[in-house]
Amino acid sequence: MSAMVKMYDVLIAGAGPVGLFLACELALGSCSVLVLEKATDPASPLKRLPFGMRGLSATSLDALYRRGLLDQISAGQPHDIRKVAHWMQQARRPVGHFAGIQFFEEDIESTGWPYYCPGPGGLGMSTTLEHLEAVLTRRAEELGVELRRGVEVARVVQSAGEVVVGAGDETYRANWLVGCDGGRSIVRKAGGFGFNGTDPEFTAYSVEVELSNPDALQPGQHVTATGVYVYAKPGVMTIAEFDGGAHHRTEPITREHIQALLRRVSGIDMGVQSLRLATTWTDRAFQADAYRRERVLLAGDAAHIHSPLGGQGLNLGLGDALNLGWKLAAVIRGEAPAGLLDSYETERHPVAAQVLDWSRAQVALMRPEPASRALAAILRDLIATRDGASYFAERKSGMSLRYDLGSDHPLVGRSAPDILFTGGARLGELLRDGRAILLDFSNDAPLASIQDVFGSRLRYLAAEAEEHFGISAMFVRPDGIVAWATEMVPAPNEARIAISRWVGENQS
Ligand SMILES: Cc1cc2nc3c(=O)[nH]c(=O)nc-3n(C[C@H](O)[C@H](O)[C@H](O)COP(=O)(O)OP(=O)(O)OC[C@H]3O[C@@H](n4cnc5c(N)ncnc54)[C@H](O)[C@@H]3O)c2cc1C
Repeated sequence: MSAMVKMYDVLIAGAGPVGLFLACELALGSCSVLVLEKATDPASPLKRLPFGMRGLSATSLDALYRRGLLDQISAGQPHDIRKVAHWMQQARRPVGHFAGIQFFEEDIESTGWPYYCPGPGGLGMSTTLEHLEAVLTRRAEELGVELRRGVEVARVVQSAGEVVVGAGDETYRANWLVGCDGGRSIVRKAGGFGFNGTDPEFTAYSVEVELSNPDALQPGQHVTATGVYVYAKPGVMTIAEFDGGAHHRTEPITREHIQALLRRVSGIDMGVQSLRLATTWTDRAFQADAYRRERVLLAGDAAHIHSPLGGQGLNLGLGDALNLGWKLAAVIRGEAPAGLLDSYETERHPVAAQVLDWSRAQVALMRPEPASRALAAILRDLIATRDGASYFAERKSGMSLRYDLGSDHPLVGRSAPDILFTGGARLGELLRDGRAILLDFSNDAPLASIQDVFGSRLRYLAAEAEEHFGISAMFVRPDGIVAWATEMVPAPNEARIAISRWVGENQS
């Protein structure tokens, strides 16, 4: 290996949304980052409408807001969703669905959600992969991330002190490697990670077609005797056939195939005049058995795959990046306490396992069999209730997320409420530089001395706010998660112990 090969703190395989967001987080934490992306061109028809549309959940929107990116994401909201999303063609717009059973904002009782004080992004927003990646690429470049396109990671060798990555004739070196290279991750395979889960029940086809008679089909989701189809008039469809995933990526998708499939699944004698765009996916649900092997880590689809039902994969991956970025940066800066990096897997692995089950449960409701139809009817009734809609919205939006950080305090482990301080600033805006925050709402600022213990690792703020949920002090990690909170007069020693577990004490 040439001595001239530059050494990076972190090498990321894959410039998808997760790799790019992670690169931004690491660069914000003062790391040198190289991203290698196999595609030469970031543009792809599958990143635009109709099939590049992605629903961002409240947790993702909060993350983007806290890093100052929400306005740019909102500015690129697709205008012509109506033509491609069947739910935009309805009189009543849902905020989400479970197995196609919709729930609506006016039915949701969010006042029961613990410490609910949402950021400006709200519960959800649509964007496109193209726009999201463009915003994140711009941000990564501003922060000094190096991005090389047309470089396919093929080999990974790690030793005690570094990871060496091979791509074609080139070699790249870094202290750490993160595989953000999608569901068929080379990093996962080369890194020796196990990948376990459940095999697919269906092949789903997302197609843009010209139908001979677009009015013969009703827009919306239809479960039939052989599968499911979802139709947005005049020609955007998803058709799922319960074939055990047999047709996924096994043969070219032709107009004839789609016409026969549509007739089989819909039971209607439809003519498909032309096929403009087509892609397939399945409900295969697999997860890596570990998220870290020594100096190699996984995030996003590289760590977990499942069906896109209910729109969770991207949100899950962005959550991985948000959780991992500041921790890995703190390790690289030599500031992290022992075990900080282990908490990435401890916190994120169970979240993905739940999402995989969430997607499996939806498949069970969509099977073309009487038991599933009966179960779906019961669930439809439940989702139509206030409690039902609130439960599904809380799960879907990510508002129910709570890491087990070993504290009984009900706020600890949750995303911090977006507190509005006297004077007009909001908590989310203060997280822009990626530093942890200690908020002290009590009189006489009893925790002020903590700033000296942690130096620049956290920002201490003696704060005033009309609504602070009875909390007298709380410590918010760089990812916006509350890691310590109290309603009592805060004790500096207790705060110090709790905080040093996350950011380590300043040795200087
Ligand atoms: C039809 C559909 C609809 C969806 N809708 C939603 C939704 O509404 N909400 C939601 O949350 N999720 C949704 N998802 C899931 C979401 O798109 C994915 O979970 C998300 O894109 C994963 O991001 P990622 O960065 O981990 O992986 P990817 O987006 O797959 O990016 C991986 C990147 O790595 C690159 N790469 C691969 N191999 C290599 C290599 N060897 N070397 C270098 N680079 C490599 C790839 O070219 C790619 O750029 C949907 C998925 C589909 C298919």
